[in-house]
Amino acid sequence: MRRGPWALLLVAAAAAVAAAAGADESAEAAAAVVVDAGHGGADFGARGVDGTLEKDLTLAVARKLAAELSARNVRVVLTRDGDEFVPLATRTEIANKARARMYVSIHANSAPEPEVFGTETYFLSVDASDAEAMRVALTENDVYQQEGTASDSRDVVGTILGDLIRTEHLRESSDLAATLQRGLAKLPGESRGVKQAPFVVLTGVNMPAALVEIGFVTNAAEVKRLGRRDVQTALAKALAAALIEAMGQTREMPASRDEP
Ligand SMILES: [Zn+2]
Repeated sequence: MRRGPWALLLVAAAAAVAAAAGADESAEAAAAVVVDAGHGGADFGARGVDGTLEKDLTLAVARKLAAELSARNVRVVLTRDGDEFVPLATRTEIANKARARMYVSIHANSAPEPEVFGTETYFLSVDASDAEAMRVALTENDVYQQEGTASDSRDVVGTILGDLIRTEHLRESSDLAATLQRGLAKLPGESRGVKQAPFVVLTGVNMPAALVEIGFVTNAAEVKRLGRRDVQTALAKALAAALIEAMGQTREMPASRDEP
C-alpha cells in the first residue's frame, strides 16, 4: 500500500547512511547494542493527554535500558543521552559506526482513539502489516520530512531499493522484534504483537533492528503509568533481558554473514 513515495524516502535515507558507512573503519566492535531514544530537542514526538512528551519517556527508558545492559556487561551506545535533536540518518549512522550486534529504537505510541493502549514492536518493511501500522510509521517518519533531506540521492534509487528488498537482516530483525515483544508481553498491560512498517529510522541499519512502542501517550491511564519510574524500570529490565536472549540466539552466526 502507498508504496511509491515511501519507497523513495526510505531509499534516500538508506543512501545517506550508505554514504557515511565505512567512514570509521577503526571503530572495532565498540558496542554490542545501540539504544536509540526516539525524538529529542525540537522534535517532541507524540504529546500525551496530560502534556507528557514522547521524547522524555523514550530518553528515560533508553537510559534505564542502557544501565540494565551495562550492569550485565553488555556494551551500549546511546544515540542521544540528553534532550537534543538527532536526525534520523545520524541515528543509523551512529549504529553502523559502532558496529553493534543489535539496534533498538524506543518510542511511545499515539492513536486517534483514546481507549487504545498496549505495547507493540516493529521491524522494517517497505509494506506495512496493515493500515494502523502504516499510520504509526507515517507519524514516526514525520520528522524526516521536516529535516528536508528526503529528496536527495534519487539517482541511486534502483541500487539502494534492491539492497533494501534483499536486506540481510530481515529474518534476524523479525526474530529480534518477536523476542522483544515476548519480553514486553510479560509486563502488566496489553501486548499488541509484532508488526512491520516502513520506518525511516530503521532504514540502512546494518544489523538486526527493531522499534519498540512502549505504550500510548494518548491513553490517560497508560501515559500516567509510563511516567512512573518503577514502570520505566520494569520496561527497561524486560527489554534488556530480551536483547540478551536475542544476542544468545545469534551468537553462532558467522561474521561473514554481513558480507555481500
Ligand atoms: Zn516516536
